[in-house]
Amino acid sequence: MGQQAAGRRVTADVGAVDASRCVVLHVDMDAFFAAVELRRDPTLRGRPMMVAGTGGRGVVLSATYEARAFGVRSAMPTAQAVARCPGIVVVPPDHAAYHTASAALMGLLGQITPVLEPVSVDEAFLDVSGATRRLGRPGRIATLIRDRVRDELSLTATVGAAPTKFMAKLASSLAKPDGLLIIPPAEVLPTLRPLPVGALWGVGPKTADRLRSCGFASVGDVADADVATLAHILGPAAARSLHELAQGRDDRRVTPDTTEVSIGAEQTFAESLVGDGAVERALLELAGTAARRARRAGFAARTVVLKARYDDFTTVTRSETAASPVDTDRQAYALAVRGWRRLSAGERPVRLLGVRLESLVRADAVAEQLELGELNGGGVRPGSRATQRALDAIVDRFGPAAPRPASLISPPDTPRR
Ligand SMILES: [Mg+2]
Repeated sequence: MGQQAAGRRVTADVGAVDASRCVVLHVDMDAFFAAVELRRDPTLRGRPMMVAGTGGRGVVLSATYEARAFGVRSAMPTAQAVARCPGIVVVPPDHAAYHTASAALMGLLGQITPVLEPVSVDEAFLDVSGATRRLGRPGRIATLIRDRVRDELSLTATVGAAPTKFMAKLASSLAKPDGLLIIPPAEVLPTLRPLPVGALWGVGPKTADRLRSCGFASVGDVADADVATLAHILGPAAARSLHELAQGRDDRRVTPDTTEVSIGAEQTFAESLVGDGAVERALLELAGTAARRARRAGFAARTVVLKARYDDFTTVTRSETAASPVDTDRQAYALAVRGWRRLSAGERPVRLLGVRLESLVRADAVAEQLELGELNGGGVRPGSRATQRALDAIVDRFGPAAPRPASLISPPDTPRR
């Protein structure tokens, strides 16, 4: 039976599956950015379409399933995607719209249970064990989520339900798009064992190659191996964790407060940047965008990660951790610049820069800490949360061309009259 068919079979008859122990749900939106654009312009429905950067170095961010049928994939250069699918509709990204849609999604999921762990803008784990009395069995809750996402957000979500996070995520990946798959305990090993090793969490293409070349092609092969043999190939820590996953064991819990989610902004430049001045101006804008996205989503970050890609495509990152969580433009910028200085890149041309906020915590949980920092600094000042909130309101109303730090305003070409 095909994997899709398994998903549909369970979807059709949720009640027939013993899902009582499948309390971990993985909710993953289908072609999220593209779906938000289709919602805005339904005339594009049914046509190959992608959200993609349109500059010379633009890449595909999200493609509809119609476009994927032509081999269009995320992270592929836009030009290559157009070559594979001539006539594809190209929509430039509107990150503000995706973050608004993401906030609506997380708000909806938060009404199902507070035990909610977002893993990216369009993906989250839920532990529904505390919600079954109110909402019914996990399969029913999964169906409820899919129905509400469709009715209230006009988007589609795929949901996987299983006893563990790993299996729930695997279930959603097998059921995509617009599907639901429940993997009850008795089905865990039969589902897992025939899959290729790449299906295991943490096994990327390189590790998969290495495992295959040593004779481990399927998850079942890894499950049956002894840990010492695997340790020779992968090192002891990875060997132990993969061996556990291959047996369907995964004791990671859904953790609502700290999340793996990161929020950021990055840009590939039409002409590479050279020198501190140019790079730091770009970082000011990127850090501001990243911090604004975090504030909108209600997060503050313990860590700010700077990413730089040089002209030879070497990519480097530096992460800087703050004493207490940060969420203002100014704080994010200061940490990004600290990372940049540590790179000592000098005059090396930079083709891409990114600023990512990581180790996110719910801002309301740390509000007191943040406000205290503000008071210690002597009331409202530029860069404080209150000022920041006021500026956000202006940007929301008038768009990003509204107030910005002075160094972002380019000098006028001609003197003012
Ligand atoms: Mg998704």
